[in-house]
Amino acid sequence: MITSLLGTTVSLGFKRASSKMPRGRALQNVVLELEKFAPLKFAETWDNVGLLIEPHKIRPIRNILLTNDLTERVMQEAVDESVDLIISYHPPIFAPLKRITQQNWKERIVSICLGEGIALYSPHTAWDVVPGGVNDWLASALPCVDMQPIQPSVLGGDFGGAGRTFTTSLTLSEAIARVQRHIGHDVHLAIGVNHSLDTPITVVAVCAGSGASVLKGCEADLFITGEMSHHDVLDANHQNTSVILCNHSNSERGFLRKFQNKLYDSLKGDCEIIISEKDKDPLKTQVKD
Ligand SMILES: [Zn+2]
Repeated sequence: MITSLLGTTVSLGFKRASSKMPRGRALQNVVLELEKFAPLKFAETWDNVGLLIEPHKIRPIRNILLTNDLTERVMQEAVDESVDLIISYHPPIFAPLKRITQQNWKERIVSICLGEGIALYSPHTAWDVVPGGVNDWLASALPCVDMQPIQPSVLGGDFGGAGRTFTTSLTLSEAIARVQRHIGHDVHLAIGVNHSLDTPITVVAVCAGSGASVLKGCEADLFITGEMSHHDVLDANHQNTSVILCNHSNSERGFLRKFQNKLYDSLKGDCEIIISEKDKDPLKTQVKD
């Protein structure tokens, strides 16, 4: 009886302790898992991906923060949450920095990471191209048949590519409702020249972020992307393609929820992984009553 009570007490105490303080992993080990999912060779050559900040003092990675964009608000959240590693989908360092001062928000972010010993990793286009990545997540807003990359790439036996195209069977208004449910935000819509909300949608092409260059020339009833220029929307309209725009980062951010579970499993629960609550698209649609 006493043994059993003691056993129970010890067991509960251990569980509480382990949920408060994850075991942690070495930074290089976490990076290895990240690159197993999305090898950096998949990233576009113009991109700036991988480990962007490696702290001088080594400490175990116990708390990881996922964000689409590393703004100053998100940076403060990372400090408040005692994060050891930030995974920012968009690279916070892109154009080369010539100094690290307090005059510019990007330099201030780098300065805080260095000062607080927080590592920074950015996967960007490696996540776009990889199977099971950002574009597959965006495409899964609709029922998909025969999904293919728009620009296939085969790298060392791995198969991926930019954008996704597939067939479906919906009306345009059903497609809009599904995209809205999937991304959880207001959707901007341009209807193709000969389209109405009842128009059947069969061929769809999607590209997360700014999709115009990947979607250009695709023969589809519907494009889904984050943002396109006025002239690219006009071109789409004139080829009888409808366009759903949901603002750049809204077409990407939802993937973080899927990735959170994936990373937790691949790290076997050794790290706590949280999604930023401060990370938001900088544009908000004002809906009139
Ligand atoms: Zn983007």
